[in-house]
Amino acid sequence: MSPTENKTSPLAGPVNLLWGVGGERAAQLARLGIFTIEDLLLHAPRRYEDRRHFRKIAELTKEEPGTARGTIVAQGLKRFRGGNKSVFEFILDDGSARLHCRWWNQPFMEKYFEVGDEVFVFGKLVETKPRTMDHPETEVIEGGEESFIHINRIAPVYPLTEGLPQRWLRGLIWRTLERFESQIAEPQVGRVTPCAPTSATTPRRAEDCAPHQNLPTRANAVRMIHFPEELTDVEIARRRLALDEFVELQIHIRSRRKNFEAKSRALPCGGDNRLMKPFLAQLGFRLTSAQAKVLREIRADLGGRHPMRRLLQGDVGSGKTVVAACSALMALESGFNVALMAPTEILAEQHFRNFTKWFEPLGVKVELQTGSHRSREQGARSKTGAAKSLILNPCSLTIGTHALLTAGFDLPNLGLVIIDEQHKFGVAQRETLVRKGNYPHLLVMTATPIPRTLGLTLYGDLDVSVIDEMPAGRGRVKTFVRAAEKLPKVWEFIREKIAAGRQAYVVYPRVEEQDTANDIKAVTKEFENVQRLLAPFKVGLLHGRVKSAEKESVMAAFRANQIQALVATALIEVGVDVPNATVMLVENAERFGLAQLHQLRGRIGRGAHESFCILISDAKNPEARERLKILEETNDGFKIAEADLKLRGPGELLGREQSGAPKFRFGNLVEDLDLIRQARELVAKNP
Ligand code: ADP
Ligand code: MG
Repeated sequence: MSPTENKTSPLAGPVNLLWGVGGERAAQLARLGIFTIEDLLLHAPRRYEDRRHFRKIAELTKEEPGTARGTIVAQGLKRFRGGNKSVFEFILDDGSARLHCRWWNQPFMEKYFEVGDEVFVFGKLVETKPRTMDHPETEVIEGGEESFIHINRIAPVYPLTEGLPQRWLRGLIWRTLERFESQIAEPQVGRVTPCAPTSATTPRRAEDCAPHQNLPTRANAVRMIHFPEELTDVEIARRRLALDEFVELQIHIRSRRKNFEAKSRALPCGGDNRLMKPFLAQLGFRLTSAQAKVLREIRADLGGRHPMRRLLQGDVGSGKTVVAACSALMALESGFNVALMAPTEILAEQHFRNFTKWFEPLGVKVELQTGSHRSREQGARSKTGAAKSLILNPCSLTIGTHALLTAGFDLPNLGLVIIDEQHKFGVAQRETLVRKGNYPHLLVMTATPIPRTLGLTLYGDLDVSVIDEMPAGRGRVKTFVRAAEKLPKVWEFIREKIAAGRQAYVVYPRVEEQDTANDIKAVTKEFENVQRLLAPFKVGLLHGRVKSAEKESVMAAFRANQIQALVATALIEVGVDVPNATVMLVENAERFGLAQLHQLRGRIGRGAHESFCILISDAKNPEARERLKILEETNDGFKIAEADLKLRGPGELLGREQSGAPKFRFGNLVEDLDLIRQARELVAKNP
């Protein structure tokens, strides 16, 4: 993504226009993703070296990497094991001490150095007697006209590729900046107001700017990112360049949205309450004020001028399903069909059961359409409901999985599409489904609380509603992280709970889609083990390879408490609702992401009884344990998602296949919430 929209800008020219860049160098730069002069100027350093202040060799430590400068006083290559293995070593002296620098099995290093060379080395000691570094980063200091680019300053250290010397690239970027800095335009004229530079070559510090325009110009920021006067300049420059990226993304999102609104007309789906009233009356509980607030937002959308594009966020158990039901009723009242898509068959079937119970008394047909189940063909509806619906309501709700996307399936007169648990679906799938109709309204629901930074970028083209309140009267979930050696006690605890009438989930970390025969064997073995441990109580097994019909009957038995414990893979992660299940045991918990564990844990704590989630981790590394402790400490899905984002990055949080998160050179989805907000405001004010 390049902020230089003007293709005639000299910065859009290819790098081989630059002096000194021939075919080979251009090919090397291309491997780094550098094709144009602008790409080169935006190639951010990996780190910086303050070459005004060195560490004395005598002061280098094992703990912290540092830069030293010295002269090579001896060097040599040793071969051993019949010449197969080697170590090249030189000894550096800076007057304070000597430093041995070694490279294992890289005999070619020998030709880069000579006794008498002055060298920078960067690294930490592996030994102190004698002081030794293995594979430090090095740069030979050369005299000459350009030496000021490399020494006595904060020097940038760039990501490189094979054959490309650090020093050469630094020189190239310096010269390119000298020549092109004045051509780096403000891409967001009228939006971002930087303070004026004092001169073309003197970067202006943020401290010198008025607080309301606390930003360097883009040109200054580019210089500062490469050749900062102080290390604090780097972050100032990065933020300026990141802001440009976010602004550009927001412009893109807005124009996509505008485009969409221009070519689509909303179907009138606001409803008239004739189904909603009796529905709410028989529900057995009152909507929370958060649910009611969200429904008002949805009703405004469904009756509005543009098709709804709304993301509904609510922690597990916050009651999104009822909101979906009410939204569906609005469209149904208005004479349109509704489709509801769930990520797994189990969840689709659960929705089918709930919605049938809710809607058939209202005379609304509910259909199920999954890979293995088609209620239309099977006529699974109750006779009275079917008969009534023919008279009362010609429109229906169709619930399904991916099967809803298959070409053969076509739902006429589609007014509203609801997608449950969005993070399991790709953006592309979302679009496919919505294109099936004539721009139906779209409600996307997710229980993975999406950190604001991600939400505003990834789902920037959706409006967002949040259910930020749990229904009253919920049992609490207590979470414990335990080592595997505590398992006997844990099983005893589970037996007690089951004896008291409760039920339990036992979860193993297996990913259904990639299930191999081995995984199945492992889970099956665990299943037998659990059966033994819990006898005479009954135990059921659920994983990706269990046939649909069997899955259904296991779930039915679990719901009816004919089975007291369910051994399962992460399959039960989403949406399953059995309020009497109050214990969850997760083995090898460290293999799951925090957000995923939080989802899993959402299966319990759904009834009035106190619930217990026990995370077993034998992770040798303490970090994994620390990570899990976050779940002991908080039930706040947003906090957990933020932590997951910091620890594992956006891909993990959103699912492997399709993180869809935009890539930034300078922007940081973990840190830059304030900039993303600022970008949104700037673009909203100045579209
Ligand atoms: P999720 O947001 O995770 O999809 P569900 O919609 O499955 O949550 O709701 C969880 C449980 O809470 C369900 O049993 C549902 O019937 C119940 N529920 C939903 N809204 C309320 C409410 N306002 N008061 C009491 N219980 C509610
Ligand atoms: Mg749900």
